[in-house]
Amino acid sequence: MSSPLRTRLREALARAPARRNIGRAMAGLVDKRRAAFPDAQALEQLRDQGQAIRDQALANLPALLRELEANCRANGIEVHWARTAAEANEKVRELVQAAGTTSVLKGKSMVSEEIGLNAALAEAGIEALETDLGEWIIQLAGEAPSHIVAPAVHLDRREVAARFREHFPELEVGEEIADLTALARRLLRERFAQLRVGISGVNFLIAETGTLCLIENEGNGRLCTTLPEVHIAITGIEKVIARLDQLPPLLRLLTRSATGQPITTYVNLISGPRGTDERDGPRAVHLILLDNGRARLQADPELRATLRCIRCGACMNHCPVYTRVGGHGYGTVYPGPLGAVLEPRLHGLAAPGELAEASSLCGACAEVCPVRIPLPQLIRRVRRDRARVSPGTTGRQARLWSLWAAIMAHPARARAVTRTLALLAPVINPALHWLPSPWTRHRQPPQLARETLAKLASEEGFGDE
Ligand code: SF4
Repeated sequence: MSSPLRTRLREALARAPARRNIGRAMAGLVDKRRAAFPDAQALEQLRDQGQAIRDQALANLPALLRELEANCRANGIEVHWARTAAEANEKVRELVQAAGTTSVLKGKSMVSEEIGLNAALAEAGIEALETDLGEWIIQLAGEAPSHIVAPAVHLDRREVAARFREHFPELEVGEEIADLTALARRLLRERFAQLRVGISGVNFLIAETGTLCLIENEGNGRLCTTLPEVHIAITGIEKVIARLDQLPPLLRLLTRSATGQPITTYVNLISGPRGTDERDGPRAVHLILLDNGRARLQADPELRATLRCIRCGACMNHCPVYTRVGGHGYGTVYPGPLGAVLEPRLHGLAAPGELAEASSLCGACAEVCPVRIPLPQLIRRVRRDRARVSPGTTGRQARLWSLWAAIMAHPARARAVTRTLALLAPVINPALHWLPSPWTRHRQPPQLARETLAKLASEEGFGDE
């Protein structure tokens, strides 16, 4: 029987237009990233710096979070802690209802996707309006994001126009990008002026100043965080860094790795609600800090590196699996190599652990990761951990490898087995084509050699050594 992952991957491979759009977009992002880092040595120095900043923050996470909380409170930002997705959703619901509204504006936030915030709010009768263009498009289409930076990357402009026409049959919808963005801008602007609560993500939290940093290109993030009466920011506890002067190198790495931009159009540094002498800005700012398994990762010396992630998406853009199947093939909030290491740690090794099989371990992700997360090593760790607990295919594979190890650990036994297999090669090789394995369905199976390596070596004059 097909596993859900295999089914999703097959379906994703069958969606030719999405594959074409994703492949084209990823190739463009790869080129832009390359052009943004013309000096290889400077890039490596910047990566050293980025890794060191993130490692330092993660090593001192509890102390930095305490410092952040104290400085945010001193700035007038209310800080709330959420151990689980359910706690975070509940807190947002409470805050929205306390503001006396049933509709909220939302800026782009992967953490809100992680906790299923929109669905949780909908259950409480609260409408969440996505204001990032890509997020808004897929919200209208009833789809999940297919990329962490470019959520609607699987759609081209004609498909976007078709979705707009379905939702706004009374409007004239052109197919040029300028027409589509102008329409979105007009429709969303009307709502910005009406709604009283804005929800956003956060890219970095600065402990020493109690500041929330949010970067974006559309201005919707700034509108969500400044126009409404109440701003609710939600993010993972790992986003904290110690000092403000550590922010520029991380922003340089993030924007260049994500889209090839030297800097995003908007860099928002939010340090509190509207002051008594100020004419605009929210009257209340809330920061919800989500654990959802992150503290467990922080406590594991090998897995902690996962939390360095600055969500640039470069690992996906360069991944030979992601670029062919796109995010929907994975069926998880975080796709690609990042998803393969993060999802099983957030949601358990059972179903999300399967993602680790959707990797060729080519290493491209680790080569481009701006904070040097050893993604292939962490994918192998998921496979190992899964083999220990899974009674399924992976457990069978583990038993086969144990048998192989038992044979290879004894030279005499290994020689006897390989000699027997070489003798039986004429019989076994043709049968290998009929193995009931997905691997051999599309590939030539490996063939047994008719001479053993030991015999060939001895003919060349090598001894047993
Ligand atoms: S794992 Fe590295 S490359 Fe992938 S999104 Fe995170 S920081 Fe970017």
